[in-house]
Formats: sequence, structure tokens, C-alpha cells
Amino acid sequence: MAIPTYEIFTVKYGGPYTRPACMVNWFQDMDKTTQINYYIFVIRGGGETIVVDCGVHPDLARQRNLASYVSPADALKRIDIDAAKVKHLVVSHVHFDHISGIQLFPKAAIYIQEKEFNFWVKNPIARRAPFLLVTDDVANRYLAKQAGKKRLHLIRGDKKILPGIELLLTPGHTIGLQAVAVNTSRGTAIVGSDLAHAFPSYKTDIPSALITDLIVWMKSYDKVKTKVSSPDLLFPGHDLALMENYPKVAEDVTRIA
Ligand SMILES: [Zn+2]
Repeated sequence: MAIPTYEIFTVKYGGPYTRPACMVNWFQDMDKTTQINYYIFVIRGGGETIVVDCGVHPDLARQRNLASYVSPADALKRIDIDAAKVKHLVVSHVHFDHISGIQLFPKAAIYIQEKEFNFWVKNPIARRAPFLLVTDDVANRYLAKQAGKKRLHLIRGDKKILPGIELLLTPGHTIGLQAVAVNTSRGTAIVGSDLAHAFPSYKTDIPSALITDLIVWMKSYDKVKTKVSSPDLLFPGHDLALMENYPKVAEDVTRIA
């Protein structure tokens, strides 16, 4: 059977937010600011819908006084996706802006790297200050409760989860971040999530300031660059260009591949 081709959509649920430029561009531009958006990615094709990341839950958005925010569930409705019925949920990594909304997807199979799960759920180091800054406790407790359930898929390394959809272990930003390689009409595209916060990192080799292992991060860059069919099919996690430079298909939703 032929491998399906998929389309990839960026769904903005928050932003733009102003940040110090050195946060997304490690040790560069210390006196400048930049802007980021918060996104969910959607992969569609072969009769399947795969959602990559959960966004921020409305409760946490209130606690954090998140401006320019809509519930990820409302954002997904704009392309006719009912979060409550989503079947496949890929969690790239367990930072709050990627995991917090996990309870909005109660029926979904959850795909997460085992290393990532074990760190955030079991390792006491994850309770230390720098990690707590990027943690949503409520979501992490919910994630912990999925242990042993059939819906939780703990992935070890690279794994094809559907024809034309492969998860890639690409650590550095977190201990077990995963990217998603997708078969598209133009070849293999990669949803990199926070492997790069913005497009320039893939050219300059300078990642964001949120690092667990810089050496491993460089190897993850090499890995995705070898795998992707064309450099312009390698996508970052927070770049405003994902909204600005691609065809708009609904409010705050673009088709990127
Ligand atoms: Zn992150």
C-alpha cells in the first residue's frame, strides 16, 4: 500500500509575546528583545489527524495571566477538530506550553519518549528550581496517572507510529524531546517543536537558552538535517514566521507543508 502524504498546519493559540532575544538565541543579542507565539501543530492525511502538543490549559493561562490567548480546543475548532475526539496526540516535550492542555484530549493515544516521561514524572531533579519554572504541576500529575494505561505509548528512540509518520528522538532542549518526521507531497518535513524556537537556529547552530545538553543538541540538529528532504521543510516551535509566511486557512491557522 502506498504511504499517505500529509499536510501540516500551524495553529496559534497564544501570542505574540515579547521576550529577551537571548532566550531564543543562546548568549546572543543580550540587549535586544524578540517575539514568539505559542503553537500547536496538526498533521492530516490518510484519513488520520495527529495533533502535536497540547498547548496551555485555560486554568494555567488564567494563573499566568496569559494575554492574547485562546483555549487550544477553541483554536482547533477553527479547522474542524474536536479536541475531545482526537485519536493521536504527540507530546514533543514536557514544558508547560506543550503539555499543559493534555486534559483537553481525553480520548487520544499519547506518544511521548520514555526518557522524557521518566524525567518529569519520576526524577527528583525535575522538582528543582530551573525545571519548575517551565512546569505545569497539574498537567504533570495527570501525565503521571496515565502510567500503565493502554493509551500511553512510551517511545524508545525513533519510531514509526503511522505509515509516513515517524517520531525522532532529538534531545538537547529537554532530555527526551521528540520531533516528528512527516511524509508530505514535497518529501519528508520535520515538525521540530522546540528543537529550535525560531528558524535561524537551524542555520546558525545557536539554539535557545533552555538547554539540558548542548552537545547532544548539536547532534540532534545533524540528525534532523540529514533526515529532512529540504531545509525549508524543517520547522521550529515558536517563530512568528510560521503565521506570516504561509497560506492562511483559518483565523490564526496556516498550512506550512
Ligand atoms: Zn520547550
